[in-house]
Amino acid sequence: LRSSAKQAAKDAAEAHHVLVDWTGTFEWDATVADLLKSRFGHDSFRPLQREVINATLSRRDTFAILPTGSGKSLLFQLPGLLSPSGLTVVVSPLVSLMVDQVASLSQRGVRCALLAADLTDRTQSTEVHHQIEDPATSGLRFLYVTPERIAKSKMLVSKLQKAYHGKMLLRFAIDEAHCACAQGHDFRPDYLSLGTLRTTFPEVPILALTATASESVRADVERSLQMDHLSARFRGHFDRPNIKYSVRKKLDEAALLDEMAALALRDFPSQAGIVYTLSRADAEKVADGLQRRGVRCAPYHAGVDALSRQSMQAAWQSGRMQIVVATIAFGMGIDKPDVRFVFHHSMSKSLEAYYQESGRAGRDGKPAEAIAWWSPSDFYRLASLACDTSDRAAAWRALVGSGRFCEMRHCCRRECLASLFGQSLPARVGAVSLGQCCDVCAAASAEAAAPSASIAHRSTLEEMDVSPLAIDALRCLAELNDAAAAEGVTDGGAAPAKLTALKLVEKLASRLRHADAKLSREALEHLVLRLVLADAIRVHFAFTAYSILTYLFTRPSLASAVLGDPGATAHSAGLHALACSLPSTLLPMAKAAKANKGGGKRKAAAASDVPPQSRKRVLP
Ligand code: ADP
Ligand code: MG
Repeated sequence: LRSSAKQAAKDAAEAHHVLVDWTGTFEWDATVADLLKSRFGHDSFRPLQREVINATLSRRDTFAILPTGSGKSLLFQLPGLLSPSGLTVVVSPLVSLMVDQVASLSQRGVRCALLAADLTDRTQSTEVHHQIEDPATSGLRFLYVTPERIAKSKMLVSKLQKAYHGKMLLRFAIDEAHCACAQGHDFRPDYLSLGTLRTTFPEVPILALTATASESVRADVERSLQMDHLSARFRGHFDRPNIKYSVRKKLDEAALLDEMAALALRDFPSQAGIVYTLSRADAEKVADGLQRRGVRCAPYHAGVDALSRQSMQAAWQSGRMQIVVATIAFGMGIDKPDVRFVFHHSMSKSLEAYYQESGRAGRDGKPAEAIAWWSPSDFYRLASLACDTSDRAAAWRALVGSGRFCEMRHCCRRECLASLFGQSLPARVGAVSLGQCCDVCAAASAEAAAPSASIAHRSTLEEMDVSPLAIDALRCLAELNDAAAAEGVTDGGAAPAKLTALKLVEKLASRLRHADAKLSREALEHLVLRLVLADAIRVHFAFTAYSILTYLFTRPSLASAVLGDPGATAHSAGLHALACSLPSTLLPMAKAAKANKGGGKRKAAAASDVPPQSRKRVLP
């Protein structure tokens, strides 16, 4: 009974909370408006700034998820200056960003301090500690600090407690709060210890800020930071209407570099761009290749010394260098508004990471492009990396998201990215913007504009039903798995047979040759990958001394279905399940004819097992 009464009270409080109108009038409205102009020089608020400021000034724990560049620093800087004294503690993982902010606040006559391992020596720390314990006297308004300091320095925490007992601790601003999510791509273990802030300083509101957060990340971060259940939550619009997204076929390395260089030199002459690569070695190789083709660029990764990185970034910021060829080490904290293109030499490990990385284009709101090059073999390469992470299942799920994004041909890419954040796009205006948002929509509108044009002029895509082929691929894999197991070619462990995607495609190709079908090898690679993405084919990893190999095998239930007696109910049930689980996406197959028409009786029989409504339309 007591717990249900408690729950009722909680529900009532939540209900009340929902009713707070953060756009309404507050006692501090006039002062806030005045500060915005006088201290920060802005005429008006950007979306959600006013609401978030009202919530944190109301002493709510507040979570704000706003895109990069939307002005999150103001959300704690302005409230921190509202009262004549008092200290705001800002936690950030990025020392360079903190240095910038401290400099710009100091310039405006605001007293700030920074505590970071590599910047602050012992005497400086002692001096800062002194200022922290009595902000009323020292006039200290902002303390920027790394999460490591909060986690490891008992001295710092005890000084903060003194300020707290003097009622001089205004709020904790946790910047880049997604770093507290263990599943996220930027996880920092020290962020977890920030949870103790809530217990040590129960009266001090927390303001968590990030640009990356799906619902699950948000929930995870709120739990880690022990934010109050009454926390106010804000989520900005994540759509980037000025970025055109596209995915291109990855050709062989030389052709790919030719293509990239041509784009950089011809389509974006003298405009700034970033090329993201998967590894340091790739960054070196790609930078070298682009340089040879006359592009002003340099590789940027964690192996490059700090000084070179700094001068490289300066050259790029000033326009002396066109492209930074980087690993993801080049990321958080870049503040260049006029990046016109972001290329992905390899797709990111998750769609959230892709959104962030590609989102570094066009911060100034002017047209920009994000192009990712993609091939099925990249997927297996990324998979073997994902396999090396602490949470394999999460890494795998993230990667499947990336894979589906690249493979899909039926839905707007921007819509797909917006749905990551649980958002849908505002209704589009006119056909012009339709073709501008992504390659998928561009192809659709080109087709709509010229419906009578010959196939060659319309598009390189053609539709076909590949369900029978998909089933054949599974059957082929199941047979090969079986045969290998019979021969004892097993891995000893979980992998039933050492069959790589490459091998399967070869087998399929030779089978199809006999069946007189004209599907390209490339199309088959995509088909097999689709089956992996649909979870009809599982991937096993085998660790060797030098690399991690990926092997394919069928799901046992599907294997028995495709190998079983065609008349058995288990068979059609299995196939039905497969057909339903195949994504309703379209398969890109270059130059493939409408193959498989005379695919033989067995295939025809298999096809008829699939309920017509779940047969997928597939573009060759
Ligand atoms: P974020 O942390 O969300 O990436 P920042 O706090 O670094 O964004 O702000 C990005 C830029 O936006 C800064 O140059 C800042 O001065 C500017 N800015 C913030 N708020 C406003 C506003 N209300 N009007 C105009 N510019 C703003
Ligand atoms: Mg920021």
